[in-house]
Amino acid sequence: MNVELLEDSTGVALEARVACPSCAGQDAQMLSSAPDRFNGRHVSYDLKKCTRCSLVWTANAPRPEEMAQHYGSEYDRAVTTAGESLARFEWRREQLAQYKTTGSVLDIGCSSGSFLYCMQRAGWDVSGIEMSRAAAEAAEARCGAKVFIGYISEAEYKPGTFDAITAFHVLEHAYSPTDMLRRVHRWLKPGGVFYMMSPNIDSAGFRVFGSYWFALELPRHLFHFSPASLTYMANSVGLEALSVKLGREPFIENSVRYIVDAGLEKVGIRRRPLANATHPGLAKRILRKAVRKTILPLASLPMRLAGPGESIHAFFQRPL
Ligand SMILES: [Zn+2]
Repeated sequence: MNVELLEDSTGVALEARVACPSCAGQDAQMLSSAPDRFNGRHVSYDLKKCTRCSLVWTANAPRPEEMAQHYGSEYDRAVTTAGESLARFEWRREQLAQYKTTGSVLDIGCSSGSFLYCMQRAGWDVSGIEMSRAAAEAAEARCGAKVFIGYISEAEYKPGTFDAITAFHVLEHAYSPTDMLRRVHRWLKPGGVFYMMSPNIDSAGFRVFGSYWFALELPRHLFHFSPASLTYMANSVGLEALSVKLGREPFIENSVRYIVDAGLEKVGIRRRPLANATHPGLAKRILRKAVRKTILPLASLPMRLAGPGESIHAFFQRPL
């Protein structure tokens, strides 16, 4: 199998792969399989793990032309709601400030521009890439960001354009993350920094919840990184790691919900999937708040003992 051919043609279904898309290793093990629990669908997707570089990928992922039907307005709403708090974006700006405090930044998957807004306020020249026209226009209106609307594979910037490139929860959605990282490397100035986040498959969350772990997000997540497999892939395109850290984000509530939903379905009770969950009434909201204040903090200790953190916060640099 010609791995280069697969990496260059994003239209090739991942199921055809026998070689690891990152290291070309020929041995991959079955790790797990799970359906799209967010949408309550039943098609099962297989996770394969390379025995050489430890990369995990969704082996029988939908083809690119089929993928739109796996997103939809509920998913968009979930992403947009998650992006409403500016505090988390300010925190990300401060993290980046360890390495870069000013210059030009490109945010890949910039959504409606919350992060770029924080960066622009701090004096950065801001650009973005975003697939949704509505979100891109919101970002432009909000902070004057120059947003390319479309796929990263269609975007064109001169080599060495940016001081920093960011991609929060984007790389795992790409059909060819290697190709995306190559672009990042090319578009960064020498010494420029790439700051990204992605779920960690080598985490307590996946160890405890397995195929019910919320952050698997099948089939929208095509790749499932660990610090080791991510660093290997970044190094392979010439990016050097500055720091790769882990954060706690076990998604206990949603993962438990998936387990409960699956249990109920076995006895013939089918609840609305998470995507279509109704806004909870007052009694439910009070109960949920009580659980968040009491049980969830108690659960965080065993989660810490069960393994490493669930989200990867990684900084890479294009060498000088
Ligand atoms: Zn590999």
